[in-house]
Amino acid sequence: MTQLNTPYPSTAYLTGFLRSRGIDAVQEDIALSLVLELFSPAGLRAIRECVDAMPASERAPVVAGFSEHFKNYLATITPAIAFLQGHDPSIGHRICGRDFLPEGPRFASLDNFIDEDGGDPLAWAFGALGVQDRARHLATLYLNDLADILREAVDPRFEFVRYAESLAESQPSFEPLAKALAAPQTLVDHTLEMLTLQAVDRNKPNVVLLSVPFPGAVYAAFRMAQTIKAKYPGVTTVLGGGWVNTELRELKEARVFDFFDFVSLDDGERPLLALFEHLEGKRPRSNLVRTFTRVDGLVRYSHHTEPDVPFAEVGTPTWDGLPLDRYVSLLDMLNPMHRLWSDGRWNKLTVAHGCYWKKCSFCDVSLDYIGRFDGASAELIADRIETIIEETGQSGFHFVDEAAPPKALKALAEELQKRNRAISWWGNIRFEKSFTPELCNLLADSGCIAISGGLEVASDRLLKLMEKGVSVAQVARVTRAFSEAGILVHAYLMYGFPTQTVQDTVDALEYVRQLFAEGCIQSGFFHRFTCTVHSPIGLNPAQYGITLKKLPPITFATNDVDFIDPAGVDHDTLGVALDKALYNFMHGIGLDEDVRSWFDQHVPKPRVGRHFISKALR
Ligand code: SF4
Repeated sequence: MTQLNTPYPSTAYLTGFLRSRGIDAVQEDIALSLVLELFSPAGLRAIRECVDAMPASERAPVVAGFSEHFKNYLATITPAIAFLQGHDPSIGHRICGRDFLPEGPRFASLDNFIDEDGGDPLAWAFGALGVQDRARHLATLYLNDLADILREAVDPRFEFVRYAESLAESQPSFEPLAKALAAPQTLVDHTLEMLTLQAVDRNKPNVVLLSVPFPGAVYAAFRMAQTIKAKYPGVTTVLGGGWVNTELRELKEARVFDFFDFVSLDDGERPLLALFEHLEGKRPRSNLVRTFTRVDGLVRYSHHTEPDVPFAEVGTPTWDGLPLDRYVSLLDMLNPMHRLWSDGRWNKLTVAHGCYWKKCSFCDVSLDYIGRFDGASAELIADRIETIIEETGQSGFHFVDEAAPPKALKALAEELQKRNRAISWWGNIRFEKSFTPELCNLLADSGCIAISGGLEVASDRLLKLMEKGVSVAQVARVTRAFSEAGILVHAYLMYGFPTQTVQDTVDALEYVRQLFAEGCIQSGFFHRFTCTVHSPIGLNPAQYGITLKKLPPITFATNDVDFIDPAGVDHDTLGVALDKALYNFMHGIGLDEDVRSWFDQHVPKPRVGRHFISKALR
């Protein structure tokens, strides 16, 4: 349960790697199948049954509307999904007519788009010609209504990109998850069980690996493992993935092993090779690599030190087996960068393993996926790109590096040019000064359409404390160079950082205002700072002026940790103003206004000169 528009890359990487080592591996995306099954005519009929079982007095308006217009929902669900899958563009004209799809409460959001001429409110957002985009946005609102109905009538934990997330996010105890797994199944659970059994019957595996990148995927993974263990107790089940790597490092809960035989940490390649040897009787359990298992009722961690498979040798990811034509492109956010996330099919690939900078104090630099930097030659990456294009027929790439190194991007751009290979790509970088205007132009020529990077709290004092290695003036120059090369720039912004004052927040917003006004950035998002146990701040809080709150005893997951900041600022209230301002800046609104006008409470005047950024650019 991560994204609906494109497969998550971990299974593609592991399938490619295992096959390159002669291991017969197949992959399935059950999350996509689950959503397609629930939002099909049969799925809607099943939801209807749940609605009918509810007392009329308990039905929310969205549910009542579903019953009333059920015939319309039933008639439109298949064409709407086909349209969002890109199969049936002509129906877009009917969708735009606004009398085809039944419209529930989610459509009220269209009122936010003020149309001064009294015409089509979406014209403001999508321009006069964007029939397909408008239709996609309307079909997304329609699906969001259906998801609301599902939550109201069937299972309140359901979301398209996460399911029952709270059961796994920094949950010190397994108890809430154990209770949920022992509870009677909802329609969502039941559908998941059916799909899991179908996949196992189809593939007849000896070993099933479940990759869990985020907390919102955990409950479903445990449900799937539970299903497999009940029907096929001889199948070995293994849990791994990003959430495991960050949150399960202190695992002591033996009940996890009622579901999974093994839990592996960090990159899967080496642990899996060792595990398969173990399963073949060629390696003792004690020589497993970064793997938890249960021995005599207790959790044991085995780590036989062996080097990881170098990035250059992990092979090319393969999407073989995933139904690339069935992914659903939603368009529910008008933030241009988020749109790239949820819209369109992107081949996900990394230019290097880990982060070459690995210093930022809020980042999980102590973990392998950030802290172990390992690159590969531009020729090899270009070979992988060409193999993937041949396999998928698609030339769009999302480089999913935490921060792609400028040197590697330059070399790759030159290699792609040498091969006369046209692709489009986007990815994450650090706004560092080696991205000169010349390099930005070269990257644009190589197909770069968008980049994102952290400006975090736009404040030189705090950027220093973060060890970000950039200054606001430098970010202005680098982002302007990207923008002038025709590349969309998205800034990750942060608030609530240790010792951040109200004055710092107002100043940061003033910098951001100027960056938009000067055409340096076109998109952004304010994230609330969270302290994680693996970050330098979590490891040395006193150095950053904060005290961590005591964590409860950990037997299951751990990641975020609450802290006390003597600055004592109410960041929640400030966050509302930041979001409002940013949303407007992205649409070119309010760029000349005093930033204090976005705040409901009295805030101090910015200390930043009104022309700071334009001077920095000069
Ligand atoms: S925040 Fe980004 S640039 Fe900084 S260490 Fe983490 S991955 Fe690297």
